Amino acid sequence: MVYTQNFNIPEKVSRVTSALQQAGYEAYIVGGCVRDMCMGITPKDWDITTNATPEQVIPLFAKAVHENNFGMVAIIDEEEPLESPFRSIEVTTYRSETTYTNNRHPDHITYAQTLREDVRRRDFTMNALAYDVEKGELIDYYDGLKAIQEKLIVTVENPHDRFEEDALRIMRAIRFTAQLGFHIEPQTEQALSAYAQNLSTISVERIRDEFVKLIMSAHPMHGLQKAHTLGIMHYISPELIEGVGVDQSRNHVYDVWEHNLRALQKTADEQWPLYLRLAALFHDVGKPRTRRRDTKKNIYTFYGHEVVGAKMTKEFMKRLRFPKKTTDEVVKLVRYHMFFSDPEQITLSAVRRMITHVGKEYIWDLMKLRRADRIGMGRPQAAPYRLRKYEAMIEQALRDPISVQQLNINGDYMIKDMGMKPGPRMGWMLHALLEEILEQPENNTREWLIERVKDLDELDDETLRKLGEKGKSTKEQHEEESIRDIHKKHGVA
Ligand code: ATP
Ligand code: MG
Repeated sequence: MVYTQNFNIPEKVSRVTSALQQAGYEAYIVGGCVRDMCMGITPKDWDITTNATPEQVIPLFAKAVHENNFGMVAIIDEEEPLESPFRSIEVTTYRSETTYTNNRHPDHITYAQTLREDVRRRDFTMNALAYDVEKGELIDYYDGLKAIQEKLIVTVENPHDRFEEDALRIMRAIRFTAQLGFHIEPQTEQALSAYAQNLSTISVERIRDEFVKLIMSAHPMHGLQKAHTLGIMHYISPELIEGVGVDQSRNHVYDVWEHNLRALQKTADEQWPLYLRLAALFHDVGKPRTRRRDTKKNIYTFYGHEVVGAKMTKEFMKRLRFPKKTTDEVVKLVRYHMFFSDPEQITLSAVRRMITHVGKEYIWDLMKLRRADRIGMGRPQAAPYRLRKYEAMIEQALRDPISVQQLNINGDYMIKDMGMKPGPRMGWMLHALLEEILEQPENNTREWLIERVKDLDELDDETLRKLGEKGKSTKEQHEEESIRDIHKKHGVA
């Protein structure tokens, strides 16, 4: 099927297809970017397919790199910023793939003569669409447009062959359900499930990259539920499915698995970054292994699940070869997510200890994780009083107290450089100065303070003492006000 279709193609892309066509070759935009355009999404990368061989493509462009031996040439535009989709546009020669080993790359590639052959080797019909910029035509050999309209993931031709050839397509299918909110067509789904075990032959890096795309999608909960029902989770994270059917009693209505998923979904709804999403997904992963029955109270307990969970999370992250920084962040958040367990005992010093454990830069992430955890339990959206109180206390613990330390002069300087004697006069002086600086912060310079110290030093003990004490009480007043402001901001009295 060929449709007339008027897509707005960026000039940087159409320049490449025109150059190929003017040299007498065929050239089409193809794959995910055409799918995206059909869905009204702006593509984030552009792929072009052509009947020209790499050797024929290269001389047509100022900077073209033969990237690998898979018939792909990258057209580079070094003026474009590194992350721009136009920095590198991929031009791939038509090909038809036959034999695969390791379920990875084709053993050798066979160039094909026609577009039809090229799209035939692609994974899903929605990814097998091509677009002719010159003619404004959408070329749809496999009913990809219909699949997009029906929100269906369907393999190109026989699903068994497709998944047997390349098990990564299993991960791709699941990832697309999460990204696009599509369903998997029943026959495709059945075949996908049948070849799940072939995932064990796929490199962990490729599994991880698809898994990350799934986690970063809009519907990660849906994707992972699908992965579980189709028997795929085992090849991604067996630790997570330990939580399936593990009831929790007390405040929880969901089993551990679903609770983790719901927490994850909340982080996706909020568009929080990868490490927070992973922390939410794994935060209770240690619960199944630590669950005990308290027969007296008739409840389950999960003592130490955050410690066991942090260890399991670390093993998972290492196995999938996540970068060390991400691993450390996720493990830390899982390890300390129970900070809130005893809200009645929350003291400022307990909050300070927690900040020391997770570090200043992650303390607010821990609060976000707490919110996700609550939503994952099916609790209402709004933060309860306790949570807001805790947030106010964090802010209080993080802020620098008002003190003479803020002055751009100190006792040491006054003794060594100004020849003053240590003693109570100096303390009074500093507090008097602090009061003046709180009124007029712009005066907090070494020069101004030196002059002021000289003036104050003229005063007799009694006058200076009074000034100092007045300064001290003003400081205390300011302290109280700033803490009141924090409490007001968080809605706690
Ligand atoms: P996105 O870029 O949003 O991750 P995509 O579908 O564009 O998704 P790419 O990895 O960019 O994925 O691949 C571009 C195209 O190459 C796909 O649309 C598909 O036609 C084809 N393709 C990619 N991987 C495979 C595969 N494992 N098997 C078959 N075809 C594939
Ligand atoms: Mg793509």
